Amino acid sequence: MTNNLERPLIVEDLKQYTYCRRIVYYQRCTPGIRPRTFSMDAGKEDHLEARQNARRRSFVQMGFEQGRREFDVDIIAADLNLHGKLDEVVTTDTGEVIPVEYKGTNKVAANHKIQVAAYAVLLESARGVTVKRAYVYLIPLRKAQLMPVKPEDKAHVRGLLAEMAQMVAGETMPPPTSVRSRCAGCEFRRFCNDV
Ligand code: SF4
Repeated sequence: MTNNLERPLIVEDLKQYTYCRRIVYYQRCTPGIRPRTFSMDAGKEDHLEARQNARRRSFVQMGFEQGRREFDVDIIAADLNLHGKLDEVVTTDTGEVIPVEYKGTNKVAANHKIQVAAYAVLLESARGVTVKRAYVYLIPLRKAQLMPVKPEDKAHVRGLLAEMAQMVAGETMPPPTSVRSRCAGCEFRRFCNDV
């Protein structure tokens, strides 16, 4: 995939694009409406305590005994023009690489699936591995929720990236979300005259 984006797309863009494509259009194609910085992908809730606890946590919930943990792993995949910052990456003794995303919620949300699939794609691009599973660590429950990452999930991410790149390159405003209840509290509501 090629595109002429000045800044890499970020994983947060993917989440927002699946929520309402127009949000990404405003952020990328209309400078001044809401300036974004490259570091906003890192603007997550503070997971410091969960990360500190992770150093003591075993891998039992993931079904193996030994592994290596990395935290706050920054990856820019030039071939995808995508940037992401992963809360945690586990590498097992057998060489399997597993992204782990921390969430301060009691259950996995729909957009977490696209997020971990994007992390899988990033890891595959950067490290030449095949990622088959991820975990969402639900902090309040201290539970690592398995998220299988299937080839079609990764293909979906690549498709969305291509779509977004085309939209940004062409500066083409997409239609509004079909879920109009999302517009009520949207910070871009005043720019959407057709909803
Ligand atoms: S107001 Fe609605 S259509 Fe416009 S950007 Fe927000 S969610 Fe999308």
